[in-house]
Amino acid sequence: MDLRINFSGRSIRYTEEEIAVVAEAMRTAEPLTQGHYMQEFEAAFARYQNVPQGSCFTMMNGASALELSAQLCCFKPGDEVVMPSHTFTASAYPYIKKGAKIAWCDVDLHTHVVTARTIEKAMTPQTRAVVVVHLYGYVADMPEIVDLCRERNVLLIEDAAQAIGAEINGQKAGSFGDMGTFSFHSHKNLTTLGEGGMLYVRDPALWSIVPMVRHNGHCAYSFERKDYWKPAMGNVDMPMLGDMMLQPNNYSLGEVECALGTKLLERIDAINDAKRERALRFIDGMADWPELEFLREESRRHNYHLLVARMTSGQEKRDAFMRAMYEEKGIKCVVQYIPLNRYDYYRKLGLGSADCPNGDLFYDTMISFPFQLWMSDEDFDYMLTSAREVMASLA
Ligand SMILES: *Cc1c(COP(=O)(O)O)cnc(C)c1O
Repeated sequence: MDLRINFSGRSIRYTEEEIAVVAEAMRTAEPLTQGHYMQEFEAAFARYQNVPQGSCFTMMNGASALELSAQLCCFKPGDEVVMPSHTFTASAYPYIKKGAKIAWCDVDLHTHVVTARTIEKAMTPQTRAVVVVHLYGYVADMPEIVDLCRERNVLLIEDAAQAIGAEINGQKAGSFGDMGTFSFHSHKNLTTLGEGGMLYVRDPALWSIVPMVRHNGHCAYSFERKDYWKPAMGNVDMPMLGDMMLQPNNYSLGEVECALGTKLLERIDAINDAKRERALRFIDGMADWPELEFLREESRRHNYHLLVARMTSGQEKRDAFMRAMYEEKGIKCVVQYIPLNRYDYYRKLGLGSADCPNGDLFYDTMISFPFQLWMSDEDFDYMLTSAREVMASLA
């Protein structure tokens, strides 16, 4: 059977209005980076997140936002960061690059995200920071996790790459911690032409530093220049962060992407709501087979970036289901998020062991359905009918 529904690398289609915004920025932006579209996107994002103006910074992608957050932690040798093993690799390697040792923690089997309990279990006196990942778009128990991190005096960073717009009691994912990172990658519910990201920083003392670290270390001279070209250009001697010398990067996001990002913020709630409505329709449509377990969440706590389920009867049945969906129905489901400790790369770094049975079990038995929003209703209904037929045939 030919492939009828692919697991697409693209989340949304753009409206004509959004395309017009991009064309306008292409025509008029000067410069094409670091201009007013960037300022507008950062301001609009801070309004959307209900965090102070000046606390949000565009980045070229989610990984660079995570790396900058890791830099701002100013790790010393021996410092540890607790994070889930069941996540995407970009949650972890930026922290390793910036000198932290990772301590893996488990996730809840049903919600697929960390809890205060699983984090606490992995904490040691060396723990400097905790990275919470709102994986698949579901917000972890942030009020409890915030309390735990305050109590232990450790930094709390949220990797909200998949969770834009998801919230608990009206508070947005990525606004609970000391820092929050977002991705506007092609896969994500809000994408700025394939790449893009945002970093939220709670501490106002860091707000003037982030743009320098983001953009080549460019900063002002401490004196008035008599002739503007003497010395030429700008300074690159950034202030110290405590006793830490900061490393420059260029992680800037272009003006066209920023213009589109501002425009898409008008629509992100509608995108998320539409995905949630579809997810619930699918989950309820599969209710006759509780063996296939979904996380059902009616509120905005879940933006259903991805639609995932666990075959509770085990991997053999999971594989049979995926094979039948692919070969008989032409629908390409995938398996996601190899627990990071199981990659050779992390093994070689000495991070090969983890006591994370739930993350392991979920990965070994999970199914991720194609869930691009632009899938037609007809194809979506076909996917639901097909999943029901395959489950019936395997019973
Ligand atoms: C997508 C993603 C990232 C990385 O974002 P990019 O914009 O692709 O660099 C980080 N963490 C998680 C959980 C992600 O899903």
